[in-house]
Amino acid sequence: MLRFDVLTLFPDMMSAVMGHSILKRARDKGLLEVRVHNLRDYTDDRHQTVDDVPYGGGAGMVMKAEPIFRAVEALEREAFAQGERLRLLFPTPQGRPFTHEYAQQLATERCRMVILCGHYEGVDERVRLALSPEEISIGDYVLTGGELPALVLIDATSRLVPGILGDPQSLKEESFADSLLEYPHYTRPASVRGLGVPDVLLSGNHEAIRLWRRKQALRNTYFRRPDLLKNRILTVEDQRLLDEVIREGVVATSTHNREEGGRRL
Ligand code: SAM
Repeated sequence: MLRFDVLTLFPDMMSAVMGHSILKRARDKGLLEVRVHNLRDYTDDRHQTVDDVPYGGGAGMVMKAEPIFRAVEALEREAFAQGERLRLLFPTPQGRPFTHEYAQQLATERCRMVILCGHYEGVDERVRLALSPEEISIGDYVLTGGELPALVLIDATSRLVPGILGDPQSLKEESFADSLLEYPHYTRPASVRGLGVPDVLLSGNHEAIRLWRRKQALRNTYFRRPDLLKNRILTVEDQRLLDEVIREGVVATSTHNREEGGRRL
């Protein structure tokens, strides 16, 4: 079971997402546990103060260190009593980029993962200095708080845990699973607003469909994320398919589908 403890000033932001769809089913099945802790519960003043103005002046508020230390210590005590280990994760735009490989690594983790959500201008630097959390960025932009990044970490990691997704095959072919982007999907009806479906997908020929999908995956990757193909050793089949893609030239996938599907109408 994957176990997360989220430390936040806005617990409702977490429950809004955790109570739906695949994450809810994973929790119901006992494959995922997410406990949400309100940092205000770890304050000791009447107003439950969790932030203050920055030393040196400047814009915004800074999250105080003490409630965070107390919350982490409470979880540490609990973990110690149960013979468990904690792994402290801190979403921050200054952290190591979160990738598919990172999610795969977290998905095999058996200890409790504690996610500390910053807010406002961020967290008192002494938290980072004293606790040395694993700093993780979900992208080169700045969000208002760590709750959305925490949900991103939980979502991307959980779906890699066996049993959480309905069909494990979908994980194998998905974007990044094989360092490639995935091929395009179509569903019924066969014609939508004048756009058809590539003939091969209606042919029932499984080998032809496999080859078409592989070629589309290589095409998507070559044109959209060529960096993923760098230093990759291709199989003979992949190299042949990629050569075809390159020979066919710069055809945007959407245009390609329109043309291929269009022939059926
Ligand atoms: N002042 C900080 C800076 O410039 O690095 C940004 C603080 S941000 C407004 C507030 C909180 O949102 C951060 O402490 C972090 O927890 C979260 N956050 C914002 N952007 C993020 C990102 N790209 N990845 C991960 N966490 C992020």
